[in-house]
Amino acid sequence: MPDTTLSDDLLPKYFFNYITDITPEDFFAMGAKAVAIDIDNTIANDGAFHLFHGVRAWVKRTQAAGIQVIILTNTFPLRAKFMSRLLGGLPYIANAEKPRQKGFQKAADLLGIQIGELAMVGDQLFTDIRGANDAGAIPIHVKYRRPEIFGYFHYRRLRRKEKKFLISKGHGDKL
Ligand SMILES: [Mg+2]
Repeated sequence: MPDTTLSDDLLPKYFFNYITDITPEDFFAMGAKAVAIDIDNTIANDGAFHLFHGVRAWVKRTQAAGIQVIILTNTFPLRAKFMSRLLGGLPYIANAEKPRQKGFQKAADLLGIQIGELAMVGDQLFTDIRGANDAGAIPIHVKYRRPEIFGYFHYRRLRRKEKKFLISKGHGDKL
């Protein structure tokens, strides 16, 4: 169960609608040398085994600009591996237990960069954004696409808390 306390480590540094909206120039401007990407509701529908439109091309574009890409997910290893293969064999860390910091540090170590040079792109404040802030990575929020099917009521409650928090910070339009 994630800690659902509303504190400032839930606040993203950057907001985008979709992951495919983030350009290499954006990453350079943020000081990011690598990007860790969430799976569910960031590059695929929750629990799905296919990617959102444009994600494969976006990964290629990002890598071609010299920015490393790694999957950082709380999902199970077989699904992470499957999604990694869809993206040309990206490195991945499954069962990351976001928001715990260890997965973020592991990603930075694996890529040979400082944690402050790692951007995290994800849709959930309580896992992706809190974890990135706590670890010292660069937290980037993208809008989720579709309510989760498994754990529907749990996630609906979390989404309401996220919304309440973002409204309190003047970002009510970002969910
Ligand atoms: Mg997600």
